[in-house]
Amino acid sequence: MATKFLFVTGGVLSSLGKGLAAASIAALLKARGLRVTIQKLDPYINVDPGTMNPFQHGEVYVTDDGAETDLDLGHYERYLGIHLGRNNNYTSGRIYHSVITKERRGDYLGGTVQVIPHITDEIKNAILGLAGDDVDLVIVEIGGTVGDIEGLPFLEAIRQLRADLGKDNVLYIHLTLVPFIKTSGELKTKPTQHSVKELRSLGIQPDIILCRSEVELSEDIKSKIALFCNVDKDAVFTAIDVNHIYELPLMLYEEGVDQKIAILLRLAAKNPNLDAWRQLVHELHHPQHEVEIAVVGKYVDLKEAYKSLHEALTHGGVANHARIRFRYVNSESVTKETAASILAGTHGILVPGGFGSRGVEGKIQAITYARTQGIPFFGICLGMQCAVIEFTRNVLGLERANSEEFDPLTPDPAIYLMREWYDFRSGCMQYRDPGCDKGGTMRLGAYPCHLRPDTLAYRAYDKPEVWERHRHRYEFNTAYAERLEAAGMIVSGTSPDATLVEIVELRHHPWFLGCQFHPEFTSTPMQPHPLFRDFIAAALSYQQSL
Ligand code: GLN
Repeated sequence: MATKFLFVTGGVLSSLGKGLAAASIAALLKARGLRVTIQKLDPYINVDPGTMNPFQHGEVYVTDDGAETDLDLGHYERYLGIHLGRNNNYTSGRIYHSVITKERRGDYLGGTVQVIPHITDEIKNAILGLAGDDVDLVIVEIGGTVGDIEGLPFLEAIRQLRADLGKDNVLYIHLTLVPFIKTSGELKTKPTQHSVKELRSLGIQPDIILCRSEVELSEDIKSKIALFCNVDKDAVFTAIDVNHIYELPLMLYEEGVDQKIAILLRLAAKNPNLDAWRQLVHELHHPQHEVEIAVVGKYVDLKEAYKSLHEALTHGGVANHARIRFRYVNSESVTKETAASILAGTHGILVPGGFGSRGVEGKIQAITYARTQGIPFFGICLGMQCAVIEFTRNVLGLERANSEEFDPLTPDPAIYLMREWYDFRSGCMQYRDPGCDKGGTMRLGAYPCHLRPDTLAYRAYDKPEVWERHRHRYEFNTAYAERLEAAGMIVSGTSPDATLVEIVELRHHPWFLGCQFHPEFTSTPMQPHPLFRDFIAAALSYQQSL
């Protein structure tokens, strides 16, 4: 069977949950025995989201192969339990970059390079690149909203693909909003009609319309949408608001969305086994415990910036039959004086990753509090670096210890920019000039980590080697390792050649661990990450000890 394609577009407004809907549909079709992969096409001009501020765009999600991608890839990996890569996310910027590079090289032999066909061909190649003998279905989510100028080349490309591949092989789903007007008690279909009209004016007739709504759409409303939008009546579905994002696959299944897709695309799909999803939703609704976790960071006003982290903590809760009460704390508000009052009553403290000096001192104060009060602590990337700085300052007594990122002239660079290091991913030595290096030199993607026996880390993973994803420039300075170790901070994970420190932890503390990598990227609801699982378990023990 040749690979088939399912395109998901969105209308009316953004933030309707298109990424989650695409991920949920993918999960359902996977549960039906199909080999599914998924791709996000983003209309913005950045070549990748790596340079984008999390305040504006939410987290930058990192894949095994070191691609910095849109956070929807995180949803895809969590719902599908598969690892994606660079080719699962393209931006307009990357498409244009590639075309312009070819133009400069003379590949177009003097031809006029145009949006149609050159940009659209490049987009089609990006999409078709995911097809293969081992893939039954490629789901492609088009970022943005129909009607945006930026998205036009993507829509034109997917329009052409139906003609190229045949109508049995290409299906279009359009997600819209059907607002409920409280004063009149009515559901309004006009925005959906307009959005579909816009899509049809671009030559795309959606096959399925998914209507995000607060309430169930009546048969009358569905008929009206079907009539005005020119789709089958049984191809209009309600995507009702759910309490928890992991209810979405079951909700769409109850509606029959995956069945309709299978029929329209003539997919050989069996009945899905959704026991694991039902079990998960049951756990989420019937927790036996509740623990409060403080996340002390700088992007706390925008939850999207900590998307994977939030999910990984939730998964860690599921593994312990616990619901997480999140307390997002702005690290800039934490000082020596305020730490106790701000953090009192939490059962675990987590300091996530981040860049730049803003809020760092507050993170360090929060870590002092966790360390001295015996509260479970989990530091991720910058959080781990802050834990090392805190210990170097307050236990080793090196008061001006810092990261070179925040104080390039610190006398004690406990965290520093390695001037040269061997990058096994590229097979090359990497050289950096601390004076002028910023972009392009991050350690990105999955790297191996060897674990030291008889440590929290080893107990969590229960194996000697793991691979975890990185996104940082600075590293633990091994010149301080011996002194830290003698004072109680041990190195429990390193690169195979022991030059890079990946995990540190405290000997005399119930649970205090910092990792240089981002374990939140590989946690899934079905397989919670062992470090998050154990952190939450420690938080529960701490709560019970009070
Ligand atoms: N800013 C730190 C570095 O570049 C940490 C990065 C992070 O937390 N992802 O090393």
